[in-house]
Amino acid sequence: MTVFFCEGNESKGKNVEKTSTLTKEEKAYFMCAAIGEAKKAQAIAEVPIGAVVVLEGEIIGRGHNLRETTQDATMHAEMIAIREACAKVGSWRLEDSQLFVTLEPCPMCGGAAMLSRVEEIYFGAYDPKGGATGSLLNLATDERFNHWSYVEAGILQAECSDLLRTFFKELRQKKKFASKKTSLPE
Ligand SMILES: [Zn+2]
Repeated sequence: MTVFFCEGNESKGKNVEKTSTLTKEEKAYFMCAAIGEAKKAQAIAEVPIGAVVVLEGEIIGRGHNLRETTQDATMHAEMIAIREACAKVGSWRLEDSQLFVTLEPCPMCGGAAMLSRVEEIYFGAYDPKGGATGSLLNLATDERFNHWSYVEAGILQAECSDLLRTFFKELRQKKKFASKKTSLPE
């Protein structure tokens, strides 16, 4: 489990070290809910990624990846969950909320979490090729931005990774089968 802390921003006279407000059990509980969302994506042949937004112990937004279904590049799990959460509280500010997502947020979703002022971000698996909250860059803890979040990686990491690994393995097998089928002589 890796934890990123914000360094103090001396120029603003801040010395902020953000910490988690949740217990280990709460983190696991809400990540389970995000995994439940990921399974909804899996059921409709979408890459299994799920997210929930939590406020005061209550899930106020849920989302699963719908990129293929909608053919919309912005329909990531986190975007859908954040939109639903904003609608629920009637505000674009999700201060004091937590975002749980099975895969490390991309630049768009890390940006949306920042702009909606999500306080804490928890993710399961790292995304070494696209992650923007620790892997390639860290939008959530970059002190040049106005808003920082606490970030914690590796919550139920094995379960989150397995979902993706199984999905892509099955996809490769299907493609292999399909190409074999088409190459068979008539
Ligand atoms: Zn994203």
